[in-house]
Amino acid sequence: MVPNAIIETRGLSKIYGSGAQSTTALDSLNLQVNQGEIFGYLGPNGAGKTTTIRLLLDLIRPSAGAATIFGDDIRAKSVDIHRRIGFLPGELSLWEGRSGKQIINFVANVRGDADGILKQAEKIAERLELDTTKRVRDLSSGNKRKLGLVLALMHDPELLILDEPTNGLDPLVQQTFHEMMNEYRQRGKTVFLSSHVLSEVQAICDRVGILRDGDLKAVESVEGLTQVEFHHIEVSYREAVPPELRERLAGMPQVSDVAVHGRRLDLRLVGDFDPLLRELGAGYVELLRIEEPTLEDIFLAFYSDKEKV
Ligand code: ATP
Repeated sequence: MVPNAIIETRGLSKIYGSGAQSTTALDSLNLQVNQGEIFGYLGPNGAGKTTTIRLLLDLIRPSAGAATIFGDDIRAKSVDIHRRIGFLPGELSLWEGRSGKQIINFVANVRGDADGILKQAEKIAERLELDTTKRVRDLSSGNKRKLGLVLALMHDPELLILDEPTNGLDPLVQQTFHEMMNEYRQRGKTVFLSSHVLSEVQAICDRVGILRDGDLKAVESVEGLTQVEFHHIEVSYREAVPPELRERLAGMPQVSDVAVHGRRLDLRLVGDFDPLLRELGAGYVELLRIEEPTLEDIFLAFYSDKEKV
C-alpha cells in the first residue's frame, strides 16, 4: 500500500533575523509523515523542532520551501487545516483567571458541535485525572499540561501536533497518555510529536526524525534504529588484562572506547565479533558480557557524531 502523506515538507527553511545576527533554525527540511503513524521528532535543545511545528501551523512564515498537511498548502489553507488538527504548544498560555471548564467550553463553542466535544473533553479530563473546576492560575504545571492535552484532543482531530506533550507529567499520567496515543493510532489517526524522552519514543513511536542544528540527520523506524550494529563489551580476565592487548585493540578500526579497570576490559565494537574474539583470547577470559546499545546510546551517537553509529 502506498503510504498516505498527512504532512509533507519540501525544502522548508527558516532563518531568524538577518545579516550577521541571523540564525538558520531550519535548513531545507524534506519530511513525510504518513497516515496512521506516530512520528517522533527529536533533537537537542535549539535543534529547530519548535520552529518546524510553528511553521506547520502557519504561526511563522518560512524563509524558503513549502509544506502541505492533508495535501493542502499550509499557508493558503491554514484555517481549514486548523479545524482538522489538535495542537499542544510547548509553552501553553491560557487565561489564568478562568477555570479549565470555562476554557474548554469556550474552545468547544468556537469549534462547533459543542455538545459532542464537551462530552469527549469530560472523558479525557477524567482519564488524565484533571480537575477542570480549578482556575488555571491554581493549576500545577503538570495539570496545565493535562488541560492543554484535553484542548488538543477533545474534538477528535485527524492529526495531532504535540510539542513535548509529556513534559512535566508524572509517570502514571505519561503511561495513560501513551495508551491514549496507541488507541488514537489504532483508529487510523496520525501524531507528530517532539520529545526529549527516549523511553517514550521507544514505547509509542513508529518512526523518528532526528534533527540537529536545523538539519534532518536521519529518519528511521524505531525498530531499525535499535538494530544498529554496535555493542558494548565487557571482558573479565582471571589474571591481569594481557599486556599489549590494549595496543592491539587500538589498531582495530571496529573497536573504540577501550578502557581497562583492573582485570576488566570495556570496549565498543561495530560489526562482526570474530576478529575481536581472536584478540581477547590472549588471556583466560572469566566472563564475557555483551550488551545491546540502548536507544539512549544511539541517540547520543546521532546527536554528537553520526559516523560513530
Ligand atoms: P528545544 O528542545 O530547546 O525546545 P527546539 O529544537 O525546539 O529546541 P527551536 O526553538 O526551534 O529549537 O530553535 C531553533 C533555533 O532558532 C535556536 O538556535 C533558537 O535560538 C533560534 N530561535 C528560535 N526562535 C527564535 C526567534 N523568534 N528569533 C530568533 N531566533 C530564534
